[in-house]
Parts: sequence; C-alpha cells; structure tokens
Amino acid sequence: MSNVLVLVDHTAGKVRKTTAELLTIARRLGEPVAVFIGDGVQEALPALGQYGATKVIALTNADLTQYLVAPKAEALQQVAAKVEPAAILIASSTEGKEVAARLAVKLDSGLITDAVDVVAGDGGPVTTQSVFAGNYTVQAKVTHGTPIITVKPNAATPEAAETSPEVEEFDVTISDAAKTARITESKPREATGRPELTEAAIIVSGGRGTGGDFGPIEAFADSLGAAVGASRAAVDSGWYPHAYQVGQTGKTVSPQLYVAAGISGAIQHRAGMQTSKTIVAVNKDEEAPIFELVDFGVVGDLHKVLPAATEEVTKR
Ligand code: FAD
Repeated sequence: MSNVLVLVDHTAGKVRKTTAELLTIARRLGEPVAVFIGDGVQEALPALGQYGATKVIALTNADLTQYLVAPKAEALQQVAAKVEPAAILIASSTEGKEVAARLAVKLDSGLITDAVDVVAGDGGPVTTQSVFAGNYTVQAKVTHGTPIITVKPNAATPEAAETSPEVEEFDVTISDAAKTARITESKPREATGRPELTEAAIIVSGGRGTGGDFGPIEAFADSLGAAVGASRAAVDSGWYPHAYQVGQTGKTVSPQLYVAAGISGAIQHRAGMQTSKTIVAVNKDEEAPIFELVDFGVVGDLHKVLPAATEEVTKR
C-alpha cells in the first residue's frame, strides 16, 4: 500500500483535531505517515497512533521552528523524495496553505486547496471543494506529480484506528534562501475557553441584528460548546474582533452546525460558511436571503430566541 504523508499540526506536541481528521482521510488513500516538525514528538505519539499513523517522521532541525513557512516546504520536499508518497495532506490553515503552495512548486506537482472531502479514486485522490466565492462545488483531481491537498477543518469525523507507530528521526538541510521570515515573537492564541473558530464543530455567529450585544450569541455558543463568529457588518461596527469574521475577507469555516443570528446572508458571508453541514438561521425578516440556504430557520428576534434556546439546551 502506498504511503500518504500527513503534516502534523500541533502546539508543543499537543496534536490538533485537524490532524486526526487528516489521518482518517489518509487511511482512505493508503498508509498514513505523519510528519512531525519541532519538539514534543513523544507527547504527540499516542494521538498519532490513535488515528492510524503507521510511522512518524520527526524533524527537529531548529531552522524549521525559527523561521516561518519556507523551511517547512524544503523539509517536506526532502521527506517526499525519500518516502515517494501517493499524496501529501496538509491542514488548510494560513501557514498550511502557504507551505503547500511552495511545496507544489518544488515538487512540480498539482495542488488542491480547501478540500471539504477527499476520497480514493482511479489514478489518485478525488477532492470536493467550494470555489469562486462559494458559487460552485466541484470535484477535482491532481493530474500532475504527487497530489498535494490542503483539507479544511471538519472535512472528516476523526475515526480511531489504534496503531503503534515507530518514530524515525530525519535530518533535513535548510538552505539560506529559505531562512527569510525569522520569528521574533509568537503570540499565544487568545484564551477564550471556546474552540478555535476554524476547527469548531459548532459555530454561533452574530451580525448587525445583534445591535452590538453579543451576549446572547456568546451565551448560546457556550451552552453548546461552540465557537463564536461574526459578520463583517458586526466587525466593521467594532462589536467583535476581526479574527472572528466569517466570510470572503474573513475565515472560511465548515462546522457540523453553523448558527447565523441577525445575519442577512450576503454572498460574501456565505462564501465563508456555506459548506457547513447543517445551517440554522435566526432572523426577524422572513425574506432575509440567509433563509435560502438554511436547513432550519427561525423567524424571530434573536434577543428572545437565543436566550430561550440557551435555557433549553442548558436544561438537558
Ligand atoms: P445586514 O446585511 O445589515 O443584516 C442584518 C440582518 O439582521 C438582517 O437580515 C435583519 O433582518 C436581521 N436582524 C436585525 N435585527 C434583528 C434581530 N433583533 N433579531 C434577528 N434578526 C435581526 N461580509 C461578511 O460577513 N464577511 C465577509 O468576509 C465579507 N467580505 C466582504 C468583502 C467585500 C469585497 C464586500 C464588498 C463585502 C463583504 N462583506 C462581508 C459584507 C457583506 O456584503 C454584507 O454587508 C455583510 O455580510 C452584512 O452583514 P450582516 O448580515 O450582519 O448585516
């Protein structure tokens, strides 16, 4: 069976859920081989084994963690030359997509970004993704070189498949040309106690209809263990930070459940959330365009509907 490389997304060995998703997808395509960059491989091992990594290639060259992006692309190129994988899977984070693009150039390979599904097909993986500001959903396949695919969070439900992967230390050489963006400061993620927006299984987003009061949005989100998102109108009004904006000029999300409250459903907002598995809207205008794409809609004032929903969820 061919090897499928998965770039591990982690913080000091704490493996993120997106990696479990990538390993689950990799098992559909071949034998998952995890590529772990930086310190903490031993801490990461149980999580990587839980989701079926057959081997972990550990890269500890300091240049990989002292500089952004380019060294990782060079390192993956060297790993790929050794492993000759059938595909390379990387999480669709900002850095992940940049690493993938540079790697594709180095390997002279085709690249598909932001896949929401990947399955095995004749002659290589077949991906599904939403393109052109969400106007089309397409299936695609890399036809040249090693398929490099970035996969959006929540594209797969992590399925355990216990293995005991061996760790192989792998030396890479990083050129001076790749040492351009030296990291001088790294800010820890804001500790909100909520899941990361792009990884969350449930997101509750608020728009202009909140009138600036995100209290009901946050309370409902917390009752569900959800992340909070916002429309651009809410962000531009200074009601919520830009880091939480969903849409064409914000984050692209694909949760199991997306609740849009007080959001009209402009095309630019849809572009960031319409691949969500289930969409629910709360809007007091029954003609609001968001109702065209919802699975469930509530016509009503979010300041009444959300507290009632929060109370109901909290009771259970
Ligand atoms: P509105 O369109 O004003 O809608 C507010 C909704 O709230 C209405 O439907 C109203 O009926 C409802 N409402 C009001 N009061 C209540 C209440 N009490 N209870 C329930 N419902 C209520 N937008 C994004 O979101 N993300 C982007 O990334 C983005 N990028 C853009 C990029 C470009 C280049 C451009 C031109 C625009 C972009 N926009 C983006 C803006 C987008 O076009 C819309 O203006 C924006 O999404 C509107 O936000 P909204 O739905 O919160 O506000």
